[in-house]
Amino acid sequence: MKYYSTRDRSWAGVALADAAFMGLAADGGLFLPERIPQVDMAKVEALAKQSYADMALYLAGLLFDDVATEDLECVVRGAYDFPIELRRLDEQFSTLELFHGPTHAFKDFGARFMGRMTGLLNTEDELVVLTATSGDTGSAVAHGFYNVPGVRVVVLYPEGKVSPLQEAQMTTLGGNIHPLRVAGTFDDCQRMVKSAFRDVALRERVRLTSANSINLLRWVPQSFYYFYGYCTWRKMTGRDMPTVVVPSGNYGNLTAGMLARRMGLPIKGFVAASNANDVVPEFLLTEQYRPRKSVQTVANAMDVGDPSNFERMMELCGGDVKALQGEVQGYSCSDEEIESAIKEIYEKYGYLSDPHSAVGYLAVKHLDVDGFYLSTAHAAKFGEVVEPAAGVAPVLPPSLAEAFGRERKSMPIEAADEALREFLLKM
Ligand SMILES: *Cc1c(COP(=O)(O)O)cnc(C)c1O
Repeated sequence: MKYYSTRDRSWAGVALADAAFMGLAADGGLFLPERIPQVDMAKVEALAKQSYADMALYLAGLLFDDVATEDLECVVRGAYDFPIELRRLDEQFSTLELFHGPTHAFKDFGARFMGRMTGLLNTEDELVVLTATSGDTGSAVAHGFYNVPGVRVVVLYPEGKVSPLQEAQMTTLGGNIHPLRVAGTFDDCQRMVKSAFRDVALRERVRLTSANSINLLRWVPQSFYYFYGYCTWRKMTGRDMPTVVVPSGNYGNLTAGMLARRMGLPIKGFVAASNANDVVPEFLLTEQYRPRKSVQTVANAMDVGDPSNFERMMELCGGDVKALQGEVQGYSCSDEEIESAIKEIYEKYGYLSDPHSAVGYLAVKHLDVDGFYLSTAHAAKFGEVVEPAAGVAPVLPPSLAEAFGRERKSMPIEAADEALREFLLKM
């Protein structure tokens, strides 16, 4: 399989390792596979009954056809050793719980696959994965690359500005994970990382790569769970052609679903479920794309004002807005609605929902969706929102509680580009 960029069509025929280590194409576009392989759904259904990993291995084999099967098997079985569950609340509401991985957010599905694939594809010198985080991405990437040979991870986070739980997830691993706590803001962290990537002299001495959500190796494997969700939902309800509701921010998750549909997954379409950051739902109504500064909400992992994957979304529809409107419906809601949904879900079903997943629930309810919504994080990760809304505190899963109790180790660093440069050279 070769890859092409969404922008300059002369960027085509790019090999997997090159596309993966580049992240963003040199023309600023996003990589997509040159051809979309078609699945045998009978085979997918049989494999999904065996295990998620068996099913994922088949799909990964179609998409990454130039990677040896034994190698892919190692990547897939290593990455997907945790459960995935479709939970049926009642006849109308079912949710695919994607939060049973080590960091208890769906980003584990992309980050763990990416970590192992990067280790496999990197045949040269040591690679340094450099990433800035405001919380969730850093922990998923740190766990995804933990103990991957030939790779070191440097995570920059703003000191005192990530939740204690998020900090514990990034700073208690040790080994090849190097957390830096920056005396500054998330914007400082991002600026420092960008400056390192632009530093030609530094990059001659240190091999740097990024792990952000537009990277192909994080994006593609997110298509696999749509197949699994479909198979289990069909088995559970006896119905067919579901609509899948996707709580969205940067739209990597939803566009991965669009990829699954193009591979032959028989789903009707999607709902782009957003918080007050409603650029995409607005576009679907008005056909005007108006990127803007994000506003802060209680579902903060979805606070994105100019989603990077919008470009992939349009590309998958061949630039045809009407086709996109036929496939994806928009929905957005306020913080108040999210909080009352958390309360309602708890009162009706005794089920605690995190604020992001609650946006999915609301879309099912208000658009009268026949299908299921994705749950993207464990309620305990957002206890500060869930507890006041539901009136009870979510119980920390054992692995989170354990990380919370362990000693945190990170290095303090000034919010200066030069300080990061020095650290990378000395590391
Ligand atoms: C990242 C994230 C999202 C948004 O996913 P996108 O792929 O960026 O649309 C939703 N919920 C949670 C909990 C997340 O961490």
